Parts: sequence; C-alpha cells; structure tokens
Amino acid sequence: MDEILLSEHLTGLVQGLYIVAGVLFILALAGLSKHETARRGNTFGMAGMVLALVATLLLAARNAELLPDQRPFAITLTLIIVAMLVGAAIGAWRARTVEMTQMPELIAMLHSFVGLAAVLVGFTSYFEPGAADVGTMAAIHLAEVFIGVFIGAVTLTGSVVAFLKLSGRMKSAPLVLPARHLLNLLILLVSAGLLVWFMVDKSGTAVVPLLVMTALALFLGFHLVAAIGGGDMPVVVSMLNSYSGWAAAAAGFMLDNDLLIITGSLVGASGAILSYIMCKAMNRSFVSVIAGGFGSDGQVSGEERDYGDHREASVDEVSTLLSDARSVVIAPGYGMAVAQAQYPVADLAARLIARGINVRFAIHPVAGRLPGHMNVLLAEAKIPYDIVLDMDEINPDFASTDVALVIGANDTVNPAADDDPSSPIAGMPVLRVWDARDVIVFKRSMATGYAGVQNPLFFRPNTRMLFGDAKARVDDIVHELG
Ligand code: NDP
Repeated sequence: MDEILLSEHLTGLVQGLYIVAGVLFILALAGLSKHETARRGNTFGMAGMVLALVATLLLAARNAELLPDQRPFAITLTLIIVAMLVGAAIGAWRARTVEMTQMPELIAMLHSFVGLAAVLVGFTSYFEPGAADVGTMAAIHLAEVFIGVFIGAVTLTGSVVAFLKLSGRMKSAPLVLPARHLLNLLILLVSAGLLVWFMVDKSGTAVVPLLVMTALALFLGFHLVAAIGGGDMPVVVSMLNSYSGWAAAAAGFMLDNDLLIITGSLVGASGAILSYIMCKAMNRSFVSVIAGGFGSDGQVSGEERDYGDHREASVDEVSTLLSDARSVVIAPGYGMAVAQAQYPVADLAARLIARGINVRFAIHPVAGRLPGHMNVLLAEAKIPYDIVLDMDEINPDFASTDVALVIGANDTVNPAADDDPSSPIAGMPVLRVWDARDVIVFKRSMATGYAGVQNPLFFRPNTRMLFGDAKARVDDIVHELG
C-alpha cells in the first residue's frame, strides 16, 4: 500500500516538474528572441533542463518501484549518472575549445546526434515495446516507431552533410542528380508502402520494412541537403534544427515522455519559424529551398565578366576618411568572425563615437554562418545594442552615410543580388552599402564569399579595398587614430 502511494506521489511530482520545466523552456525561447533578455532566457533554459534531469531520475526511481523484478534501481541510477558525466565532460570540453567560426559545424553535428538518438530509441522501442504491446496501443506504437525512425534517419544524414559542407570538407555546390525531385517523391511513396507492410505484418518479418525504410531515409537526408547549395545553407541549418526537434518529439511519443514531446515540439516549431524568417530574408520560397538545387550551381555568375579594376586604400587614407566623416556604418560578415576582429572593431567604434561621429552597425540576417552570428560577436565585444541595426532599418540610411566599412562581408553586400537577374543570389535582399559616399572593404584577397559569386561592389568607383586580415587592419587603424 505504502509502495503504491509512494509511486503515485512520484508520478505526481514528475508531472509537476514536467510542467514547470515546459514553462521554463517557453520562457527561455521568449527571452532568447531579444538581445537584452537573451542571458535571462539562457538561465531559464538551464533551470528547465536541470528540472528535466531531476524528473528523469525520479521517473527511473518510480519505475524501479513499480517493477521490482527488473534491474535494481541502484544499477540504473549508476548507469544514468555515468552516461551524464561522460556526456557532460565531452560537452564541456567541446564548448570550451570550439572556435566561434566552428559553431555552425558543431551545431549541425549536434543535430545529427538527435537524429541518431531517435533512430536508436525507435529500434529499441520496437524490440522492447513494454506497456504499449497490446491492442490499439500496439498499433499506435508501431506507427510512432516507424515515423520516429524515419524523421531521425533523415535528420542524421542531413545534419552530417550540413556539417561536412559548413566545415568545407564537402563542396558547398549543390549535388544535382537527374530527376532528383522524382527520386525524393519515390522514396516518400515507397516509405509509405513500407509503413503499411510494417503495420500489418504479423509473421515476424516486420523488421524488414523498418530496416529498408531506415536505409531509404538515410539516403533521403543525404540527398536533400547535398542538393542545397551555397547561399541557401542558412535555411538548411535552421531546417535541420527544426527536424531535430520533431525527431526528439517522435522519441517522446515512443517513450511516452510528455516533456520530450513538449521540448521537441518547441524546438521543431521554433526551427520552422526561423527557417521561414531566413527564407524571407533571402527572398526564397521555403518549398524551393527544400526541393534543393539552388544556390551556387557551379556556373558561377560574373566570374567571366570584366568588371574593370579595383582600387586599394592605405591604412592612412582610411584613418583620414574616418576622422573627417560625420556618419559611419560598419557592415560585418563572416570574415570578422574568422579574424576575431570584433574586439578591435568595438574599440574603433568607441573611438569614433568619442569624436562625435554617428557610428552604427548593419546586420544582415544571414551574415556569418549561423543565424544571429554577428549579433553574438558584437554582444561579446560589448557593443551597445542600440547602435546595432537590422538590414531593413539601416538600408534607407546608407544614402546619407559618409563611410561604409565592410568588415569581412561579401555575399551580404553584393549588388548583383539586387541588379543582376542572372546571379545565383539574385533576389536576395542585401545591405546597400554602395549607396554610401565611400565604401572600404576589409578582406584578404579578391576571393569570393560562401556562395562562390563574384562581387561587383569591389569594382565600383566609390569602393576601395583594404587588403589583409581584418583584425590586423582594424588594429592598424585604431593605432593610427590614436
Ligand atoms: P561571405 O562568406 O560571403 O564572405 C566572407 C568574406 O570574408 C570572404 O570573402 C573572405 O574573403 C573574407 N575573410 C575571411 N577571412 C578573413 C579575415 N581573416 N580577414 C578579413 N576578411 C576575411 O560572408 P557574409 O557574411 O557576407 O555572407 C554569409 C554567407 O554565408 C551567405 O552566402 C550566407 O547565405 C551563407 N551562410 C550563412 C549562414 C547563416 O546562417 N548565417 C549559414 C550557412 C551559410 P578573403 O578570403 O578574400 O579574405
């Protein structure tokens, strides 16, 4: 009697903790949507995760209580703690050693783990269905297993390909197989057929359709992401974020774990909203990005074209230009992250502001290699939020700007997106830096950016190039300004 009461109490406590953790996760997302509240949002998220872990331990204790003939609780607890310690040690080590520029790859890699987890949970849950092994519950459980493994497998290989592309181990150009849309459609149809076989098979061979579908889904994940090229990768990153959420939610259904369903759905939905925002920022339709084959398609536009000569500026000239300016806009890009130039850039901005110059930062939604990449770097360097403006806010102001400093940005300031319909990035809204009186571009060479497209900005009459590592060059200017 006492034991039943204890397990009832534990069940109630676990449900209560789930609700509190779920609310904390929602508050975390709300907090993360603004600079000012991002830190608080993170704290809410961490608190929610601690409660979720406590609830998981309590759940294991309750299950041991209810099923005393199973493995002793002490062993389960030890296994959980050992797994958590190993995971935490690896996580802490990676978080400490990862370079900011490797963050996107790391995130893609982490998404692949969620996919792998969903596949493993699916297979385990198929072989050991537990309480869900009877009647209608068994049928629902089988469908959950099949769909969960499918989403997990697509997420797994899709994320691995995203990791390889973002880390430069695989070419970012899209893989365009003949009849690729038909191929994807065929995989979906065959998988639906396999689901039917899986559900009705009573002869013990149901694992066959499950295995065949897993192989097909692994290929589909690979193919979907391999077919998306260059400039469309931001959407892929956020899309895989969304998939990983749905994979976690599917695992929640299989394990009958409400918190995993809530958390997975939150990640899935917020990833989908982010993908939509990224598509809007790039003026692409979501469906066309997912269908793939866009971005740099190998026939790099403008490469053959003669844009004339570019002009170079010296550190001296740029310092004089800045000293005489009344308004300066800084447009940072991936190169600022590579050079870790955000600190000298913050120093430069502070010095110019101290001289009474109006300094602002222009942030393109897909600058860098991660949604919000530039915002994170600028916040790290303690640049005040009120001078960091979004593309739509700052674009009309370039025409009244004296000097635009482009620091390691390329695709996000490419006028071809605006005026060359044949460009692979045509239609993508960009920062209109060329409207400023003078433009100074900080980069190391005339090389192209992520999308592999030449940038006519570098050849405009009001543009000058300041070659070299962005950090070193900005340091030189700070030094010159004194
Ligand atoms: P780009 O990738 O277009 O260009 C970055 C430029 O930085 C390069 O041309 C490079 O030129 C320069 N650079 C590199 N290292 C240094 C350095 N140490 N010092 C100075 N310059 C340097 O950057 P953008 O931010 O403008 O555009 C982002 C691109 O990435 C877009 O195409 C976007 O679609 C894509 N993308 C964005 C994601 C996101 O979520 N934000 C995710 C995945 C892709 P050089 O070599 O000559 O120095």
